[in-house]
Amino acid sequence: MHAAGVWAAPAGQRSVSAAMSELSFRQLQSAVVQIDRAFAIHEDWTRDVIRTFVVKQPPRASDLVPGAHRRCGFGQWYYSEAMNALCDHAAFVAVGWVHERMHEAAARLLQCVVDGMPIVAAELDELIDLIDRLRLEIRSLRQELDEKTQNRDPLTGALNRARLFPYLREQQTLMRRRAQPCTLAMIDLDHFKRVNDRHGHVAGDIVLASTIQGVQALLRPYDHLYRYGGEEFLLCLPGIAVDAALGLGDRLRAAVAAQPIRTGGSDPPLRITASFGLAALDPAGPVEESVERADKAMYRAKMKGRDRVEAWT
Ligand code: GH3
Ligand code: MG
Ligand code: MG
Repeated sequence: MHAAGVWAAPAGQRSVSAAMSELSFRQLQSAVVQIDRAFAIHEDWTRDVIRTFVVKQPPRASDLVPGAHRRCGFGQWYYSEAMNALCDHAAFVAVGWVHERMHEAAARLLQCVVDGMPIVAAELDELIDLIDRLRLEIRSLRQELDEKTQNRDPLTGALNRARLFPYLREQQTLMRRRAQPCTLAMIDLDHFKRVNDRHGHVAGDIVLASTIQGVQALLRPYDHLYRYGGEEFLLCLPGIAVDAALGLGDRLRAAVAAQPIRTGGSDPPLRITASFGLAALDPAGPVEESVERADKAMYRAKMKGRDRVEAWT
C-alpha cells in the first residue's frame, strides 16, 4: 500500500524536503556510505586528470566524449536508479550540475592534450575551481543526510523524542496562522513484553522495527512519527481533525495487525497489535497537555481490550 492510497494528500505539498523525509533511516545511512565511496572514486579521477596535464599521458577516451559525466565512476553512482529517491533534493541536484560542468571543462582541456595544443591557464583555473566546488557540494549533501540520520532512532527509524515538543510548538503556531487542525496519536504495542519473554529480545527488536517501518510507509511525507518511549510512539498528523483521524488511525491499526513479521530462521511469522489514542493538538495550551490526552485515550483503548483506536473526550 502506498501513502497516497491511505491519506488524501493535499495537492502541491510534495516539497524538496518532503522527498528527503521519505527516505528511511537505512536509506539515509546507505546514501551516506555510498557518497563516501563515490567521493573517493571522484578523487581518484581528479588525480588522474591532473596527472594527464602534467606528464601528458593519454587521456581516457570516455573523458573526451559528450556525456562523460555519466560514464565516470562518480557519474555511474550519481545516475544509478538507487539514487532516484534523492533526485528532487536541492543539494543532490547541485552536485550533479557542478559535476557535469566540471566534466565539460575537463573534456575541453583533455582534448588540447590529445591535439598537442597548449593549455590556457585561465581554463585550467576554471577546472580547478569546479573541482573545488564539487568537493564542497558533495560534503554539504553528505552532511545534510548525516544530520537526518542523527535525528532518528536507529532501531525503528522513527524521529528521536528530543525534537518532539519544540516541533509541536511550531505546529501550534502553524495551526493558529492557517486555522488548520492537527491530531496527535499515541501508539503503544500490545503485550509487547510477552514477545520479548517468549521469543527473546532480538525477535522483539525485529517486531518493533518492522511494525514501525510498516506504519511509517503508510504516512504522508509531512506526518511525523516520534519514538516516545520503549514501544510507544507519538504520531503528529497536521491538517487532520480528530474525527477524520479516527478512520486513518483504524487503517493503521488494521495494517499493523495484518502484518506477519518474520524474525529469522524457521520460526513462524509473529503478529502484533497496537492500541491507538487520539487527541487534538490544542493550538493554545501547553503541548504536554495534548500529548497527555492522547496517552489517556491510548490507555482507554488498552482497557477496552487493545487493538483499537480511541479518541480523548
Ligand atoms: P500493554 O499491552 O499493556 O502495553 O503491555 P506491554 O507488555 O506492551 O507493556 P509493558 O509496558 O509491560 O512492556 C513493554 C515492554 O517493551 C517492556 C520492555 O522491555 C519492552 N521494550 C521497550 N523497548 C524495547 C526495545 O527497544 N526492544 C525490545 N525488544 N523490547 C523493548
Ligand atoms: Mg505496550
Ligand atoms: Mg508501553
